Amino acid sequence: MTHHHVLIIGSGPAGLTAAIYAARANLAPLVIEGEPSSTSDQPGGQLMLTTEVENFPGFPAGIMGPDLMLRFREQAQRFGAEFLTEKVTAVDLSVRPFNVSVRNTEYTADAIIVSTGAQSLMLGLEEESRLLGHGLSTCATCDGFFFRGQEIAVVGGGDSALEEASFLTKFASKVTLVHRRDSLRASKIMQDRALSNPKIQPMWNTVVERLVGTDKLEGALVRNLVTGETSTLPVTGLFVAIGHRPNTDLFRGMLDMAESGYLITKPDSSYTNIEGVFACGDVQDDTYRQAITAAGSGCMAAIDCERWLENQH
Ligand code: NAP
Repeated sequence: MTHHHVLIIGSGPAGLTAAIYAARANLAPLVIEGEPSSTSDQPGGQLMLTTEVENFPGFPAGIMGPDLMLRFREQAQRFGAEFLTEKVTAVDLSVRPFNVSVRNTEYTADAIIVSTGAQSLMLGLEEESRLLGHGLSTCATCDGFFFRGQEIAVVGGGDSALEEASFLTKFASKVTLVHRRDSLRASKIMQDRALSNPKIQPMWNTVVERLVGTDKLEGALVRNLVTGETSTLPVTGLFVAIGHRPNTDLFRGMLDMAESGYLITKPDSSYTNIEGVFACGDVQDDTYRQAITAAGSGCMAAIDCERWLENQH
């Protein structure tokens, strides 16, 4: 059992910024950064699944997502942050110091910063795990380039789906927007932009039932929910854009969360309902979900944490 002043769970822009600030405040944080093999808990967070990041200030020529996260990590290490490349398996926030388990190893901490992020929702089809990265994608920015001149589809009817569909018309010859209802959830401006784009064709009241292809996607079997008719869309790319899910299962029953699972923080702070536990980044933000806002809230969490610890002594 090892004890740390501050333990940071998660290593996306929020967790690593918290690590930089906590380390520079001499708190020697331990960052439990996640598991490389996992799609939801990979070290570096969602930016590890991205290619070029063009909107992170300070990089006028853009930077690749994984390179950006490596830089964050190096900066935190430079000031003494330690890293554990594992996944937290359980937490006990009812004891002091707090207890965090990583399989059979226990860690204790005076304060915890939760920055476990969020992940893309999937359709739940059997073929998804096989075809993810082989025609099936959850990130238009990452993978759009691979579909130049090809016919693709986007699933969903919210802002994400319409944003992705519009973006993908830069590459694809045709984008079919597959939506399960006959009206969109997306904002009016996004609807107008997407539906007036001649490359985007909406397919209403339709769900994807099966993905066709062994090693790479060759089509999608779709069903019209009104007529019951099925057909195969001859697409080589399918982008699932049906929302995100925060990684908060570990904290259920302990930390206050919204019905959607996002952690609730006190206004204008990173304080959760448990004193000494702070939350930052996408795990508590379903509005902005940007690397820069996550980083900003990571900074807030480290400062809140430092001040809280100071008041304990
Ligand atoms: P969302 O608003 O929850 O929309 C999810 C969409 O996916 C809905 O149209 C939903 O259909 C559909 N869907 C959900 N589960 C499905 C399933 N199993 N099969 C088929 N379709 C399914 O999620 P989002 O688009 O990711 O947006 C999340 C939040 O981020 C929103 O507040 C949004 O405004 C915001 N956002 C903003 C921007 C922007 O302003 N630039 C960009 C992206 C996201 P139903 O409509 O039938 O429920």
